[in-house]
Amino acid sequence: MELNDDQLQVLKWVHGFAENVARPAAHEWDEREETPWPIIEEAARIGLYSFDFVANCFADPTGLLLPIVNEEMAWGDAGIALAILGSTLGVAGIVAAGTPEQVAEWAPQCFGQAGDIRLAALCVSEVDAGSDVSSLKTRAVYDATSDAWTLNGTKTWITNGGIADIHVVVASVEPELGARGQASFVVPPKTPGLSMGRKFQKMGIRASHTAEVMLHDVTVPGACLLGGKDRFDERVARARAGRHGKSSAAMATFEATRPSIAAQAVGIARAAYEHALDYAKQRRTFGRPIIEHQAIAFKLADMRTRVDAARLLYLRAASMAMTGKPFTAGEGSMAKLFAGETAVWVTEQAIQILGACGYSRDHPVERWHRDARAYTIFEGTSEIQRLLIARAISGVHIQ
Ligand SMILES: Cc1cc2nc3c(=O)[nH]c(=O)nc-3n(C[C@H](O)[C@H](O)[C@H](O)COP(=O)(O)OP(=O)(O)OC[C@H]3O[C@@H](n4cnc5c(N)ncnc54)[C@H](O)[C@@H]3O)c2cc1C
Repeated sequence: MELNDDQLQVLKWVHGFAENVARPAAHEWDEREETPWPIIEEAARIGLYSFDFVANCFADPTGLLLPIVNEEMAWGDAGIALAILGSTLGVAGIVAAGTPEQVAEWAPQCFGQAGDIRLAALCVSEVDAGSDVSSLKTRAVYDATSDAWTLNGTKTWITNGGIADIHVVVASVEPELGARGQASFVVPPKTPGLSMGRKFQKMGIRASHTAEVMLHDVTVPGACLLGGKDRFDERVARARAGRHGKSSAAMATFEATRPSIAAQAVGIARAAYEHALDYAKQRRTFGRPIIEHQAIAFKLADMRTRVDAARLLYLRAASMAMTGKPFTAGEGSMAKLFAGETAVWVTEQAIQILGACGYSRDHPVERWHRDARAYTIFEGTSEIQRLLIARAISGVHIQ
């Protein structure tokens, strides 16, 4: 798990951006509750928001680079991190299901370049299908004459939804097959029929745009079915024959993104721990710094222990994913579960250590707590991660 020189160099560069660009801007964009375009532009200018950078991260043979970059970015600010890294969710959807040719065609378009920024979104969740992704109602219907697919439905809670240039949409083609009858589609820029619905006003990560995506007779060429029709037809045939294939379109993407989402949660927790440690050394009560009160020192000891444990879990999951080791005990879910809950717990302890200052917007810990709260909900709630771990370790199909 030791990082090599290349990884350390990248990390130092990302840390510079997180510390000098994201941190100072965090409060403003949290209050404005808008996409921080100038910050994304700055990230694009230095090459941090770019296809090349993400491709380098994906290509790292240890699998650790992408998640450690995620940790560093979220240490700077989770809302801004998600505004910058949200497009990577769309890319992950393309990489998880697409052919090499489709990845080469669409992934660079998810970023654009400095001066001409593009965004991507991954559209899975629906009002009646959040945790239960097998119940998606968005339909994709194929027309063989024109070799085109038509998508209809409404997606909800979509990061970059409606403002993205590329939307990767998971839709049901064979509803009776549940998740196994679903496929992922790229909806190219400016496709008629795709529009933004309601933008959500959130508790945290407010610099990241989250909205509904409406799909009304959205027609895309056959080539936009990720993985291609032949592969999809084979998967459907296997499912009809009762044979198990690879995981569904949505699950394949979530398995790939979980270590990075866990890493973001670790970044928030680390930020809060460091802030609370500094504060505890400065703040004096009863004639001594509060860190000399064992109750506070032990809190900090527990905070640091959990942050480090959460990091080790996401590093293990990322390494296993890259080296093709199967998650036989739900190791990806363990990382996401523990890191999300650690971020919530650590940021709450930080508020307590800061006393009234922790409850004030003059200090960032209340924002970090609001940001952390999302990490036990999106990309699979804590309950769903426990379900996946329990199923993996027991072999029992727990509901
Ligand atoms: C900030 C933010 C950004 C998001 N971005 C995206 C995005 O980019 N793309 C996207 O597709 N989605 C996105 N989502 C949606 C997110 O993935 C869903 O909100 C999440 O999967 C939970 O679904 P739900 O909200 O419908 O909760 P529900 O599924 O309704 O769950 C409600 C509660 O019931 C529990 N529960 C449900 N089923 C079970 C069970 N079997 N056993 C035990 N407990 C259960 C859940 O854990 C939860 O506590 C985002 C959400 C947020 C908050």
